[in-house]
Amino acid sequence: MSTHAIVRTRMAPSPTGEMHVGGMAMLLKNYAYAKRHGGKFILRIEDTDQTREVPGAVGRILDVIKAYGLSWDEGPDIDGPFAPYTQSQRLPLYKQHAEQLIAANQAYYCFCSKERLEQLREDQMASKQQPKYDGHCRVLGSDEVAKRLANGEPSVIRLKVPKDEQIHYTDLIRGEITVSGADVDDQVLLKTDGFPTYHLAVVVDDHAMQISHILRGEEWLSSTPKHVLLYKAFGWQAPIFAHIPIFLNPDGKGKMSKRKGEVAAQSFLDKGYLPEAVLNFFMLLGWGHPEQKEVISLDEYIQNFDPADISSKSVVFDLVKLQWLNGVYIRALSADELLEKLQPFIPADCPANLAKDILPLIHERLSILSEFEELSSFFYRNITVDPQVLSKKATPELVREQIETTILELEKLPDWNEQEIENTVRQLQEKNDWKRGQYFMLLRLSVSGQQATPPLFTMIVVLGKEKTLERLRSAGKQI
Ligand code: GLU
Repeated sequence: MSTHAIVRTRMAPSPTGEMHVGGMAMLLKNYAYAKRHGGKFILRIEDTDQTREVPGAVGRILDVIKAYGLSWDEGPDIDGPFAPYTQSQRLPLYKQHAEQLIAANQAYYCFCSKERLEQLREDQMASKQQPKYDGHCRVLGSDEVAKRLANGEPSVIRLKVPKDEQIHYTDLIRGEITVSGADVDDQVLLKTDGFPTYHLAVVVDDHAMQISHILRGEEWLSSTPKHVLLYKAFGWQAPIFAHIPIFLNPDGKGKMSKRKGEVAAQSFLDKGYLPEAVLNFFMLLGWGHPEQKEVISLDEYIQNFDPADISSKSVVFDLVKLQWLNGVYIRALSADELLEKLQPFIPADCPANLAKDILPLIHERLSILSEFEELSSFFYRNITVDPQVLSKKATPELVREQIETTILELEKLPDWNEQEIENTVRQLQEKNDWKRGQYFMLLRLSVSGQQATPPLFTMIVVLGKEKTLERLRSAGKQI
């Protein structure tokens, strides 16, 4: 166990693009773990690679986390005991720590040129070796280093990895991990421009911010031995690590990537997934509720989540399951709640009153909010009806007769209500001995242009008398 008195977890996004669904799923785990243990969840912006920074990304990261209904206790916009929480505002700290390691002989200055390093890399690749720094500057004497520094020669600071040591740490999901120092690169810690690399900054900050547990993606597994060495070199206690498996593309092939569909956390909300449903979906990826529940609230998750229970196998980002869960959450909404959430998805040509009337008819069938348009457009847009389909199950004469008689009877109705419409249509069908399936489908197709619709009579009420009769007339003319 960590000897930290309180659980403090963090998410440390780099503003190099939009927040990925994998990042949001990771954030949820860190958030839940801190909350479960009455701890704190910290948001830190890791923006030391300024060449890759995307303008506006920080703001969008903060916004999308809030849009998912999650929050942080300390972060770039909330003052806390370890502020600032943005790495570019903490630069002196990293330089000072890198120099501290030099003084302790745990790091060294390296003057190798870009050209030399490139050549080294090419040679190593050509002889099928893992590209790694060859320790060229590791052996420089202190006088020479002092002289070259005094001459203003560009340099970086590298970690002096003990090549003959075994590096051990315990991963909450993967158990004991041992890596040989010989396999770890003498990582650059401070770059020529004085900026830290991710490795130095992440360790300095996780320590300074008293982070007790780090739950992060397994893509960082190979970095962890470097971090463990850094903690040791500074004489600090390392946090507890858990490396969470990555998501695979919905087709099960390869790491989830943009090439195979949307990956930005925001894009799922934009499409009409409810944040609660997406979070619930994240919960179930690689983890199961003790009672095998599938629909889990955030509070229930917090009460039950333990990273040690996460599977070490990669999980498929199963869109079918996400859509199913989203439907479950949509069905649980009241009509008013649904109407409110649907606002961004109601097309401009759908009158507001009509949208309200349509909603109860499609509520059950809606599994993503953006489906509203597809499921409702026949109410307010022109439809096309295929005459051949209309007379598929009966002769054109019969179909024409059915349509004309129905128009005549419906026209007479003083009140346009479901009961009256249903009685009229059923009486016609019985009196004329028409086949019910054929006749009802004819009406359905004529007024909506579709075979799968909300219940026929409710739909006809919402369409209104004028539009219903107009569509029946138009269908009749086409036969
Ligand atoms: N800044 C890193 C990232 O962009 C953080 C990795 C970590 O959690 O240590 O994901």
